[in-house]
Amino acid sequence: MAKIEQILPAVRVPSASRVREIRKVSLIVPVLNEQDAIAAFLDRIEEVMAPLAKEYVYSVIFVNDGSTDATEFAIRSRMQSDGRISLINLSRNFGKEAALSAGLDHADGDACIPIDVDLQDPPELLPQMLGHWKKGALVVNARRTCRATDTWMKRATAGSFYKIFNAMADQRIPPDVGDFRLLDRQVVDVLRGMGERVRFNKALFSWVGFETAEVTFERPRRESGTSAWNYWRLWNFALDGIFSSSTAPLRIWTYAGAVLASLSFLYAGFVLLQTLIVGVDVPGYASTLILILLFGGLNLFAIGIIGEYVGRIYSEVRERPLYVLRSVHMTEKAATDD
Ligand code: UDP
Ligand code: MG
Repeated sequence: MAKIEQILPAVRVPSASRVREIRKVSLIVPVLNEQDAIAAFLDRIEEVMAPLAKEYVYSVIFVNDGSTDATEFAIRSRMQSDGRISLINLSRNFGKEAALSAGLDHADGDACIPIDVDLQDPPELLPQMLGHWKKGALVVNARRTCRATDTWMKRATAGSFYKIFNAMADQRIPPDVGDFRLLDRQVVDVLRGMGERVRFNKALFSWVGFETAEVTFERPRRESGTSAWNYWRLWNFALDGIFSSSTAPLRIWTYAGAVLASLSFLYAGFVLLQTLIVGVDVPGYASTLILILLFGGLNLFAIGIIGEYVGRIYSEVRERPLYVLRSVHMTEKAATDD
């Protein structure tokens, strides 16, 4: 007798997670020197998730990204009384993007939700996000509707970043959506299979595609501590984002070069004719100097852009691990063993 798959090859068989009654949600929380935020964060999560206990179980995976304060101690003391908390210690600070990857690699939930510990990603949104997931969305983005808690400078730079990024990148990213989003297991598995070292998660999350829903929120101020992001770090982060998601900055030079070469030919013809007709015009120091400086500057700039890509190619071919683990304390059997 023919197997059911042979008769109905196109039917998508729901994964075990979809037919199971209780779904498991892994919250992925990168932490860098957040000793004062841990307890308040866990309390708020419990408050929000307790009423949903019939439908969802949750686990919290802290990724300690090289904290030098008592963050690890704060997490471990909560782990003693709460079996849903896991801890991954990285060997040093690898940055939030690498910490998130470490969390995603170890999570075994049917969905993963990266969330900040400082309560700027309100846990109160979780029920709404889970609701969209239940209805079939594989990605649920949380978009900030208002940036009133940011300085005008942060608003302006963030706004320009999204405009420039989306004008250049092959795959748009939704403005004002951070790392706080729900990712179904199917999406997480795709992300885990993406081998690149220079990781700009926002762009990777969008690149993956799938049915996407959105919830909106107003971002509150930080509950405690200070942001680890200064403008220099944000600038480098933005460059990483653009150069890892688009080759447009390289292509611009093809056009710029073509236009400049055409103009140079025209000017060369003009100078040649002028010399033949009216003879050698010795003065010309200013125009020569200007052209040398202009083309010298443009050349260096273009080489700099190429250098950005070469540097990234170098990072990729070295194939160093994205992060180094110091120790892993998972409460339940996790996805690390596969
Ligand atoms: N974070 C991290 N590694 C870093 C920087 C930040 O794990 O190198 C964590 C931090 O502890 C927090 C989250 O990433 O949980 C967001 O950081 P932050 O609040 O400083 O960023 P902002 O909210 O200002 O964008
Ligand atoms: Mg924050």
